Amino acid sequence: MKISYYNGEFINDDDMKVEYKDRAVYFGDGVYEVIRIYDGEFFTFDEHVDRLINSAREIDIDDLEREDVVSVLQGIKEKNNIENGALYIQVTRGIAVRNHNYPAGVEPVIMAYINEAVRPLTQQEAGVNVVTSLDYRWLKCHIKSLNLLANVLEKERAVKAGAKETILHREGTVTEGSSTNAFIVKDDVLITHPANNLILNGITRQEVLKLAKADNVEVKEEAFSVDDLYEADEAFFTSTTQEITPIVQVDNKLVKDGEVGTLTKRLQNLFDSQLNKLNPVKQS
Ligand SMILES: *Cc1c(COP(=O)(O)O)cnc(C)c1O
Repeated sequence: MKISYYNGEFINDDDMKVEYKDRAVYFGDGVYEVIRIYDGEFFTFDEHVDRLINSAREIDIDDLEREDVVSVLQGIKEKNNIENGALYIQVTRGIAVRNHNYPAGVEPVIMAYINEAVRPLTQQEAGVNVVTSLDYRWLKCHIKSLNLLANVLEKERAVKAGAKETILHREGTVTEGSSTNAFIVKDDVLITHPANNLILNGITRQEVLKLAKADNVEVKEEAFSVDDLYEADEAFFTSTTQEITPIVQVDNKLVKDGEVGTLTKRLQNLFDSQLNKLNPVKQS
């Protein structure tokens, strides 16, 4: 039996029901996080909790208590016997009769559940193809908002094209993927869009930048173009569930020779060693 959480209660997942007046339903009026558990340990737990609280504040949900978030996350982990999983948590503005403006006197509503997750090792070794498309999202993409209609439409574009991800661009400038951050390598420099209002500053993105810098890789947080992506030496995207996934084809054109790049592999190895550190006893 799987145990999930909604608005103050841990519930058998089969019995989970969301209030129809939860503002998630009408407006997508909330924020969320996805957190990985590897061999029974959270990965980058504090970073995800901090970002959830920051996202909530960005939409004026100021009364979300950190300790409530932490106890829900730990409760889900403890009540479910899932060693390798992805934990989803969302926070909405509250439950109220439908009106666009913020309802008075409501409390934020937390919902959470966990699913089994396996590392996408095959695609990490072989690489994937991606398509590019216009980024017509709003100008607050730094908030991990429940409003994901553009992201949904653009992920579907990739699936229909037989690709893994859609890399978005604003007038030719690459921002990020529909649910991932995009990187290229050119002349041994690792390049990714700066963390501003046009992208979601991924925890995996930040992890990769840290690992690269610590390994003396030259890093530029600068915008690059779709043409730069076509002409890159290497390319990859990152996210909590996709980790570091090499891009070997963009819009049916090979990236370089279509092989996974050497710096990409090096970063994947460094990322793996971070995971091994989580649970040295189990790994040895
Ligand atoms: C969540 C997300 C990412 C990846 O962030 P991680 O913290 O690495 O999982 C990138 N882009 C968008 C739009 C996202 O929603």
